[in-house]
Amino acid sequence: MTAQIIDGKAFAAKVREKVAAHVARLKDDHGITPGLAVVLVGEDPASQVYVRNKGKQTIECGMSSFEHKLPADTAQEDLLELLDRLNADPEIHGILVQLPLPSHLDEELIVNRVDPDKDVDGFHISNVGRLATGQKSMVPCTPLGCLMMLRNQLGSLSGKEAVVIGRSNIVGKPMAQLLLGDSCTVTIAHSRTRDLAQVVRRADIVVAAVGRPRMVPGEWIKPGATVIDVGINRIEAPEKGANEDGSVKMRLVGDVDFDSAAQVAGAITPVPGGVGPMTIACLLANTLTACCRANGVAEPEGLTA
Ligand code: NDP
Repeated sequence: MTAQIIDGKAFAAKVREKVAAHVARLKDDHGITPGLAVVLVGEDPASQVYVRNKGKQTIECGMSSFEHKLPADTAQEDLLELLDRLNADPEIHGILVQLPLPSHLDEELIVNRVDPDKDVDGFHISNVGRLATGQKSMVPCTPLGCLMMLRNQLGSLSGKEAVVIGRSNIVGKPMAQLLLGDSCTVTIAHSRTRDLAQVVRRADIVVAAVGRPRMVPGEWIKPGATVIDVGINRIEAPEKGANEDGSVKMRLVGDVDFDSAAQVAGAITPVPGGVGPMTIACLLANTLTACCRANGVAEPEGLTA
């Protein structure tokens, strides 16, 4: 069998189109423009790139983008004060604090200072609780993107055996909650799981969110399974030659060994070009959802859990 490749880039573009169409209707019918505020503390180069991309895509969808770039030595009180202002600002419907934060800042305190209704990352403890108890919540973007791709690929997920590898608060655990919400039989595997191969072999759906390059080989995959690879790992790519400074070039791979898994799976996401592009698309979808809820207007269908 050769797996169908799930094109996350194309799917994310469709999600963004849907968001943009709904944003245009919100403006025309209600005079409302959704607004997303992104807060970046410090000068981490990767975070700067993410924040730039988020701002660009927010504007492309017709929403307002507010960027707050603060110096690395920003005092905690000042950051909390900014969040209080954003929480109170009616033009802002979504707030995202780019993680990781510099080490002198209390991440938990800061994440929980964001108004849960504007918490488009879905990390606030009250959103975590709402998701776990099946209530309406803001859902973390990466797992939401995975769920959308799975529903698009498989239709109903009810009764499927799903294995999530990884139990982090930002991917593994919310992913498992979402699959449970769609009536899968869910197993969460982690570094202490005994015989991971055996656990993965029974899964109709495998979501790998570990951070270990190509750790899941094709021989673990049940024939026909749908494989969602969340992992983003940089490995040396000597086949690409050397950089100008003589160092080896790098490339991205997932947690799944794509070449062998694609021989067995029914469908699989590539890395790059699979889950990655869906994350920002879901951030935009969450901002739109938060705006609709704040204004008591109908939410777009298919953009939430
Ligand atoms: P974490 O490091 O927070 O969690 C990794 C999880 O993998 C842990 O639960 C850990 O288990 C588990 N694990 C580690 N080693 C093994 C092993 N040998 N067997 C089974 N499980 C193992 O990572 P994240 O959840 O934040 O991210 C996971 C991956 O997803 C990373 O590559 C990250 O870059 C990527 N990512 C991609 C995103 C995207 O947009 N595409 C967004 C977010 C993350 P234990 O708890 O026991 O230690």
